[in-house]
Amino acid sequence: MTHSHPLSHLPHAADSRDAGAALEAGFSDLHPPLTSRQAIIESQRCLYCYDAPCIQACPSDIDIPRFIREISEDNINGAAQTILEQNILGGSCARVCPTEILCEQSCVRNHHEECQPVLIGLLQRHAIDHMDFDGHPFTRAADTGKHIAVVGAGPAGLSCAHRLATHGHRVTIFEAEPKPGGLNEYGIARYKLTDDYAQQEIDFLLEIGGIEIRHGQRLGDNLTLEALQAEHDAVFLGLGLGASRRLGLTGEEASGVATPGLMPATEYIRELRQVSDLGELPLARRCVVIGAGNTAIDMAVQMARLGADDVTLVYRRGVEAMSATGHEQDIARANGVRIVTWATPDEILLDDQGRVAGMRFARTQEQDGRLVNTGETLELAADAVFTAIGQTFAADSLSDTRAARLEPEGDRIHVDGQLRTSLPGVYAGGDCVAPGQDLTVQAVQHGKLAAQAIHQDLMARQEVA
Ligand code: SF4
Repeated sequence: MTHSHPLSHLPHAADSRDAGAALEAGFSDLHPPLTSRQAIIESQRCLYCYDAPCIQACPSDIDIPRFIREISEDNINGAAQTILEQNILGGSCARVCPTEILCEQSCVRNHHEECQPVLIGLLQRHAIDHMDFDGHPFTRAADTGKHIAVVGAGPAGLSCAHRLATHGHRVTIFEAEPKPGGLNEYGIARYKLTDDYAQQEIDFLLEIGGIEIRHGQRLGDNLTLEALQAEHDAVFLGLGLGASRRLGLTGEEASGVATPGLMPATEYIRELRQVSDLGELPLARRCVVIGAGNTAIDMAVQMARLGADDVTLVYRRGVEAMSATGHEQDIARANGVRIVTWATPDEILLDDQGRVAGMRFARTQEQDGRLVNTGETLELAADAVFTAIGQTFAADSLSDTRAARLEPEGDRIHVDGQLRTSLPGVYAGGDCVAPGQDLTVQAVQHGKLAAQAIHQDLMARQEVA
C-alpha cells in the first residue's frame, strides 16, 4: 500500500501466515457446489413446464427446462451447450446471478408447500463445471473480412466479441485494465468467484479464436471513437461505469487529497480481489458502509469476514427499498453486519489528525412520498467509512468530439431495442446504457443482442453494396 492510500493508517487484517489461511477460509465458495448425485436428484424436481416462467425471468433467455432435462439424462455436455448458446458466461452467472429474484423466484415449485424452487443456479453451475468438450463447443463461421472494435473486456464486451466471432468477424477488444473481465474480475465479492474463475472462463471464451485483447486502452485517454470508427466496420461500447458517486459532504476530500479512512467500496473490493495475501489488506475494526445495493452488502460482509469487530450498513430508506435482495441482506446479517435504516449521511467526523473517526447521520422518514429529515441525528464511531451509493460514468470517457455526440439518457448512453446508439455503426451495452439492471447477466444479454444487430447491419450493407 502506498502512503497516500486512504486506509494506510489502519492495521493489516493479519500478520501471521496462520491467520492468513484462516482468512482465506472465510473467502471460500459462498454456496458449495452440488455433487453429481445431488444434481441428478435436483434435476428430477423440475416439471419441464410449458411456457416455462423461469425462462421468461432469465435476462439471457436460457432454455432452463431443457438444460435441466439434459442433466437428468446425464448429458452434461448437452446441458452446458444449451446454457452457453444463450450465455457464454453462464459459469460466472451461475455464481453471481441473484437467482432468488430471477429464475428461482418464478419457478412453479417456489410455493408455500415446498418452500424451495428448483435450484436452477446450482444446476447451471454443475453443468458448466463438469462439461468436458473436445475443443471449444462453438465454431467460427468462414471469415467475413469484417473487423469490429469492442471497447471494454467486461461481460458485455466479451459476450459481444464471442458472438461476433461465431459469425466469422474479427474482433479487437480495447481494455483499460491489465486484466480482462470487468466487474467479474474487479468488482464482485471474492467469495462469489473463487479460484481465479473469471480468468479461466475468459480463456475458455477466447478459444473460439479471432478475438484479440489490447490492454491499457482507454476511451477518452489514448483512444477516440473517431479513430476506432475509421479503422473498424463497427464499434461496440461496453464501458461499464467507472466512477463512484460521492456523498457531496464537506470534508469528503480536502484539496484533492483523499480523507484518511474514507473510501469508495468499489476501490477496496478491487484491492481485495487482486491481493494474493488477504492478511496484507488494511482492516477497519469499526466500519460503516453507506449504501443499499449488492456492492454495499459485498463490502460489509467482506469486512466482517476479514475480522472487523463492528460493521454497520446504513441506508436512508427502509429495508424493503434496498436494491440488495432479501437473500443478500440475510447473508449480511448472518455475518454479523448491523443494518441501520432511515438515516442519511450528514457529516464526516474527523479526529484531530484529520482522519475519519465516525459519521453523523440525519434520521429520515417518508412524508407524502418524499424523504425528509426528522431533525434527529445519529452518530456512529468508525475507523473507516465506505461509500457504495452507486456508480456513474467516468466523465472523461465520452469526451472526444465523436463520442460527445452520443445521445445520452439520464447519465448513461441511449440505445434502441437492438442496442444501437444514436451514431450509425456504434452500439453499446451493459451498465453504460439505459435502461439497465446493472447485472452481469444483463450485460451478457446486451453484448449478445448487439452482436446480432451488428452482424445483421453489416450483412445488409454488404447485400446493398
Ligand atoms: Fe422447471 Fe421450475 Fe422452470 Fe418449471 S419453472 S421448468 S419447474 S425450473
